Amino acid sequence: ETATVTDEAPDVPSGLAELAKRHLVMNFTPASKYRDDELPVFVRGEHCSVFDENGRRFFDGLAGLFCVQLGYTHGAEVGDAVRNQLAALPYQTTWSVAHPPAALLAAKIAELAPGDLNRVFFASGGGESNEAAIKLARQYHQTRGEGTRHKFIARRVAYHGTSFGAMSLNGMTAVRSMFEPLMSGVRHTHNTKRYRRPEGETPEQTTAFLLGELESLIVQEGPETIAAIIMEPLQNAGGSLTPPTPEYFTGVRALCDKYGILMIADEVITGFGRLGEWFGSIHYGFQPDMIVFAKGIASAYMPLGGIIASDAIIETILDGPVGMFNHALTYSGHPAACAAALKNLEIMEREGVVENVAELSPYLGEKLGEVAKKHAKIVGDLRGDGFHRSFELVTDHAGKRWAAEPIDAGDFVGEHLNPALAEAGLICRVAIDAEGNPLVQVSPPLVMTRGDIDELADLLNRAFGLATASAGL
Ligand code: PMP
Repeated sequence: ETATVTDEAPDVPSGLAELAKRHLVMNFTPASKYRDDELPVFVRGEHCSVFDENGRRFFDGLAGLFCVQLGYTHGAEVGDAVRNQLAALPYQTTWSVAHPPAALLAAKIAELAPGDLNRVFFASGGGESNEAAIKLARQYHQTRGEGTRHKFIARRVAYHGTSFGAMSLNGMTAVRSMFEPLMSGVRHTHNTKRYRRPEGETPEQTTAFLLGELESLIVQEGPETIAAIIMEPLQNAGGSLTPPTPEYFTGVRALCDKYGILMIADEVITGFGRLGEWFGSIHYGFQPDMIVFAKGIASAYMPLGGIIASDAIIETILDGPVGMFNHALTYSGHPAACAAALKNLEIMEREGVVENVAELSPYLGEKLGEVAKKHAKIVGDLRGDGFHRSFELVTDHAGKRWAAEPIDAGDFVGEHLNPALAEAGLICRVAIDAEGNPLVQVSPPLVMTRGDIDELADLLNRAFGLATASAGL
């Protein structure tokens, strides 16, 4: 059943959009939003919906930014845990000391993480966590006398953050080129997008091709120069890119072992349930040396991220000449953030949230498949897994591209699709990816019910219908 929603409006001052436009520098936000366009101001959330200052409800098909696993329902309970922690001990470092929430949370994460990933370093978000992973990988190789291993291999179109190290890993030029020179030594290999692979190629052949390309890159660069390979289990940017076959990730693992390279799974999005397991690496059956997490760990009730490293990596560093991980952040393991995460994980376990994703994922796929079929005129591909799915839009199906005529993709998205989504009351991610392909991504809260899935599909149908009508397609 669809969750009930109330229309009780919190007391907020008026003129917030104007204040924000005047004073708030917003993330990746175009000038038009500061000047001409309407700026939504959200004031309240409930279950899978958020409400703007006029009381209008929007279905949050993006879970905030792939991060509110629990939706918007459990704020009071998490809030109590945070308040109790702030009253007991609002702050302590994790520099040569510990405190209850950090110790308990690290142990809990070690319990959930696959294999020997038992050591947790905390940061505040995904990019910061990737910085820690980069430094830990380099320090590990240095400690073992393999200081030549400084390079990283990431994948094309992938996104790993905006700080300099994380940004350097990005496989999209738009967010990096104006900030060059970046961290040197990053190479990019193919991602797993199959939509534009040659007609008739089987998933097994795609896997063989991708692993061949990766090995050839490793050999060409010199294996002794490569520190780590970093990949998301399901790549978000580029549109929900899944491994072609299970042998893809086990094959990458085998190459890492063959050439002494560390394997890092960036699970900022896939971690904590999005694919129906606690981690995407468990879902796809491979064992990384490090997992990078953020977002879902605390359902974004508080900012928190970090890395989970293998015992072997941390023991090597502790036994080495420096004798410590040479890295620190003032807010690493912040007590209030860790308390929120502990409560979040307790609620996720109590309510069977990860099981919910596993159970409803096929139904989500089915309903979105109906949407794709109904709007075949503009939907070229629907792909993804778990509660993370993407539509790639095309008008020229034979060429698998957005036709230059009668309107271009940017116009369609900006002039027709975004307004249609706003009219339908649906939040999802609409992007033109690094290769120019329009994508519509859904990544809803993990507490979504069957009824919510029906509503999500209805809203997508409505938005696609409005957009194609207004574009005259
Ligand atoms: N890695 C991945 C896979 C991400 O999707 C993101 C952000 N969406 C990041 C890293 C960066 O996280 P943050 O914005 O918290 O720095």
